[in-house]
Amino acid sequence: MRVIIAGGGIGGLTTALSLHAAGIEAEVFESVAEIRPLGVGINILPHAVRELTELGLADALAATGIATRELRYISAHGQEIWREPRGLAAGYHWPQYSIHRGRLHMLLLAEVRARLGAGRVHLGKRMISTSQDAHGATAHFADGSSATADALVAADGIHSAARAQRHPDEGPPRWKGAVLWRATSVAEGFLGGATMIQCGHHDLKFVCYPIANNPDGTQLINWIAEKVFPEDTAWNREDWNRTADLEAFVPLYEAWRWDFLDVPALMRRAEAVFEYPMVDRDPLEAWSIGRITLLGDAAHPMYPIGSNGSSQAILDARVLAMHLKRAPSVEAGLAAYDAARRPATAALTIANRGLGPDLVLEEVHRRAPHGFARLHDVISDAELRETAQNYKQLAGFDPALLNQRESYAA
Ligand SMILES: Cc1cc2nc3c(=O)[nH]c(=O)nc-3n(C[C@H](O)[C@H](O)[C@H](O)COP(=O)(O)OP(=O)(O)OC[C@H]3O[C@@H](n4cnc5c(N)ncnc54)[C@H](O)[C@@H]3O)c2cc1C
Repeated sequence: MRVIIAGGGIGGLTTALSLHAAGIEAEVFESVAEIRPLGVGINILPHAVRELTELGLADALAATGIATRELRYISAHGQEIWREPRGLAAGYHWPQYSIHRGRLHMLLLAEVRARLGAGRVHLGKRMISTSQDAHGATAHFADGSSATADALVAADGIHSAARAQRHPDEGPPRWKGAVLWRATSVAEGFLGGATMIQCGHHDLKFVCYPIANNPDGTQLINWIAEKVFPEDTAWNREDWNRTADLEAFVPLYEAWRWDFLDVPALMRRAEAVFEYPMVDRDPLEAWSIGRITLLGDAAHPMYPIGSNGSSQAILDARVLAMHLKRAPSVEAGLAAYDAARRPATAALTIANRGLGPDLVLEEVHRRAPHGFARLHDVISDAELRETAQNYKQLAGFDPALLNQRESYAA
């Protein structure tokens, strides 16, 4: 069996590695002419680290990212609301990694080239449409060329050409008013050097975590400032590479200077700031049609809440390879992948619209907008626990469930 993958992002490259591990031939067609280490920090949750570990990438991940030990929720007044251990510290058999997206991307690319052969990654190949018949699936590229194989996986991101061809009336992604400013700053570590913090409330948020240790003892710290605008505000089309001006938002955080972190000072050390509207799309009725399917952001773009964008693409890749290997036909394999992954990611997309695990920040802000003397006068421990637990179950990273479930190895 041979599979064409359109899109060499996190999802596409992980699919190539997963198919190769399953003994299935794979070839990647990526639109950009040169793959560069773009983006800022992302989190790879234990359920996805498990998959990358089974692909033999544990050491490379450990050498590239930071194994996150703790997550804390903090109010806009710097008051702690909730803390929980993460990764190995939370009892998972696999760590959680906070990592630079670009470095992860380059790591995956190097592995694909080493394992499948450098000639299996084709650059400058922008897929513009797909077609299929009883014998194969074809990707048609902007340069006039095409490629045919037994199956075609469209992992071509949030502006997927394959998805647009199937759903010409879908239009642009859905924007509900939130804008994210994302950046990295080099600074001294905070709260022990392996903690992720989520601060503020629905209208103004700040998320921050270290993604690499520097030789001089400083850390590369990823941060995201998020502000909600009225829904009718005009905003720029989503583009992962659009830069922004610090002064557009740092003044909003001037009072966020706490003993463990000076937020505006960290922001002003940014290397470059990227602006991105928080968008998603409605879940689809089908991903797999015959020999062609969708994967990653092409299939289920979701709000980047709860650290699930890349993690879910990695799960897709592994489940796809497993079903293609086990099923009696290409069509049956893609249908089984669709049945396994589509409902799960649809539920997550919807949960993220409802704030996901960040719900506790909003509740505390609503009940005590000027801060609190004692947290438990405002919110009970049971409520805090329940919110955290519900989201983990939904996203498939409840520790007990994850540790016990069968491997997705083909
Ligand atoms: C440049 C860039 C920077 C990003 N930075 C961040 C970040 O900082 N934080 C974050 O949370 N997420 C970021 N993301 C998104 C994140 O990588 C995805 O949400 C997640 O990893 C799911 O991966 P994916 O492979 O489905 O999509 P992506 O990682 O977006 O990969 C899609 C790939 O398909 C390629 N492609 C697009 N159209 C076509 C086409 N027509 N034909 C062939 N190839 C095509 C793209 O060039 C890209 O390499 C970024 C994505 C990109 C492309």
